[in-house]
Amino acid sequence: MTTQQQIEALRSELREHNYNYYVLDNPTITDYEFDMKLKELQELEAKYPEYYDQASPTLRVGGMVTKNFETVVHDHRMYSLDNSYSKEDLEDWEKRIQRVLGDVMVEFTCELKYDGASISLTYENGQLLRAITRGDGTQGDNVTTNVKTIKSVPLRLKGNYPEKFDIRGEIVLPFEGFAKMNEVRVANGEDPYMNPRNTASGSLKLQDSTLVAQRPLDCLLYGIVGEGTGIATQWEMLQKARDWGFKVPTVAKLCKTTQEVIDFVDYWDVHRHDLPYETDGVVIKVNSLQQQDELGFTSKSPRWAMAYKFKAEQVSTVLHEITYQVGRTGAITPVANLQPVLLAGTTVKRASLHNADQIAKFDIREGDTVFVEKGGEIIPKIIGVDFSKRPVDSSPTAYITHCPECHTELVRTEGDAKHYCVNYYGCPPQITGRIQHYISRKAMDIEGMGSETVELLFKEGLITNYADLYELTKEQIMPLERMAEKSAENLVQGVAASVQIPFERVLFALGIRFVGETVAKKLAKAYKNIDALMAASEAELTAVDEIGERIAQSVVEFFENDANRTIIDRLKGYGVQFAISEEQLANQTDKLQGLTIVVSGVFETFSRDALKKLIEENGGKVGSSISSKTSYLVAGDKMGPSKRTKAEKLGVPIISEQEFLHLVV
Ligand code: AMP
Ligand code: ZN
Repeated sequence: MTTQQQIEALRSELREHNYNYYVLDNPTITDYEFDMKLKELQELEAKYPEYYDQASPTLRVGGMVTKNFETVVHDHRMYSLDNSYSKEDLEDWEKRIQRVLGDVMVEFTCELKYDGASISLTYENGQLLRAITRGDGTQGDNVTTNVKTIKSVPLRLKGNYPEKFDIRGEIVLPFEGFAKMNEVRVANGEDPYMNPRNTASGSLKLQDSTLVAQRPLDCLLYGIVGEGTGIATQWEMLQKARDWGFKVPTVAKLCKTTQEVIDFVDYWDVHRHDLPYETDGVVIKVNSLQQQDELGFTSKSPRWAMAYKFKAEQVSTVLHEITYQVGRTGAITPVANLQPVLLAGTTVKRASLHNADQIAKFDIREGDTVFVEKGGEIIPKIIGVDFSKRPVDSSPTAYITHCPECHTELVRTEGDAKHYCVNYYGCPPQITGRIQHYISRKAMDIEGMGSETVELLFKEGLITNYADLYELTKEQIMPLERMAEKSAENLVQGVAASVQIPFERVLFALGIRFVGETVAKKLAKAYKNIDALMAASEAELTAVDEIGERIAQSVVEFFENDANRTIIDRLKGYGVQFAISEEQLANQTDKLQGLTIVVSGVFETFSRDALKKLIEENGGKVGSSISSKTSYLVAGDKMGPSKRTKAEKLGVPIISEQEFLHLVV
């Protein structure tokens, strides 16, 4: 046997043992034997680096250090799931589905909702190409080196897999491993980690992959996306993924009736505590992928899937004090400061009270014993007061009338639940809030700078708006608390690099009230540059698709303001992007202006996503289901029959991929 053959043989043997141990839970050799073989391979690889293999089992031990995780755009967006909390919700959902699909048989798969960190793995030619976190759903962080250390993630697939596909799953930290990690921490005098989920997602972002390798993480898979996978149902998908070597929990059920779905939910609501890892619900999916395709997506989630959330845990505790926070828009949020209490694995000290109405609705008072609940969201909610425990001397909460930070009288406009501090230029949390928003990841994504740095720079009088960031010098920053030459340099560089950020994100970064990411994109596309946008009247703005009066008014007000105009002029001077790029412009036309186009089926030249992008770039709107407003249905291979029937009934023209291309070229 040549050295190369010897190395290959060891690798394939170790791969099989890994699979037996971590995926099947059924080891066939002792840990000691395994370690010896691994060591042998490590030594051979060190001696003969020419036989390097990026899928070698030795990479499981880590070693690579990632300083900055690269941001990667997902090939297929990672959606959220709609939530339901009762059987009625589920029945309503099923009715909605039947209405779209017509009177056809619909089967469902039920899986558990694993509670960890979402991950998308891309495989090409059977090898793990990359692992990306969910991020905001459109783009996430490249954490491949860390994910490679998770033993149940196959680095090389078995069997008959498609050439390229993405597979989605959840990285979890099973209870037992989590408890062991904490034992070690406590023994070392460190604070224990609070819950498995946060620890799992934190682990993915550790810089040193050796540390990740030491954590007993697991990866549970549930969904494959990609063109031409030849898979027809969700159930088959789970089976196939298992065949290719992925860890897919067998706690899943193919259900023919709603009653079977409900039985599954009821059973696991009780028995989930017997599982080795955390779950927070059941995910119910329409089984047929063709039906899934017909149902499509809303802007946030698939219409063909629904999460049923297990009842959230509830506790009661004492509310000591209500304090008030001022946001970057001047909005006031009341906060309940609680007697710390353990809830679903985390210590809760604070809860949001939302607004004055919310406090009045429950008649929440300082000194009350309140019920706190933690649903899916991070911030716990107060869901009621235990009136039997109300102190006799308690008095109703008087909502504040003046800003707690700058003492300006608060304003509440008609139709808005929140109170606002209108001292836009003089209220410190509004000033720093706007700058913090500007530098944030979805906005200008300025590296080397965080919220605390902004506060520090403001306190030192170095910045009072985001344009000031571009004038900061290393010499000014270095003397500040916790700053050194390197961090000061990084900060200045991070600011300088932000001039590359595209116009639509700059527009979002400006922090115009009601202009979120989606609206910013729409405006950037409609006006192409800031001068055109600044010149637009309210009436012109509302003519843009999906821009309502409230947004239009806020945009006009923002640009009418002299101080804002000065800041924008300064930003222009620093080179910030205030127009969409040549490249983007070149791809854009108005050819599909005013048209709503639905895409369905599988296509020859383009992926479905590419077709959708073409529609948007040419000024059209992508529709998700057919209605009388649909202008065209672009039909590919294997399009759902009910879509066709519906289009025919409503007289919506059905065109082919080729015919569509004629519209845009
Ligand atoms: P949410 O974040 O509450 O909108 O729920 C969506 C997330 O649930 C997805 O991003 C997945 O990471 C996660 N999830 C856990 N288990 C499953 C499952 N069996 N099927 C689909 N998604 C799941
Ligand atoms: Zn104020």
